[in-house]
Amino acid sequence: MSQDPTLPKEALALSITNYVACSKCADEVANLTPPESLQNYAAMDVGFTDWGVQVWCRRHKVNIVHIDFEGHKLPADFRRLEII
Ligand SMILES: [Zn+2]
Repeated sequence: MSQDPTLPKEALALSITNYVACSKCADEVANLTPPESLQNYAAMDVGFTDWGVQVWCRRHKVNIVHIDFEGHKLPADFRRLEII
């Protein structure tokens, strides 16, 4: 992975346009009383694998998505944007 940032600094703020969620968690949270947000209910692990990046549901012990980089080395930005 490249150590040189390729993204603009503003991309380090929350920029998610489509959230990744476990469908089992989504089904369960729809019926909770009292209601709870999926963001608080979900328990996910996210990390690099030998193939790419995997998102794993800790609650259900299932794969949510495993993105295959197909051997490509993609740039990644690990800078932290801190608001003081
Ligand atoms: Zn789940």
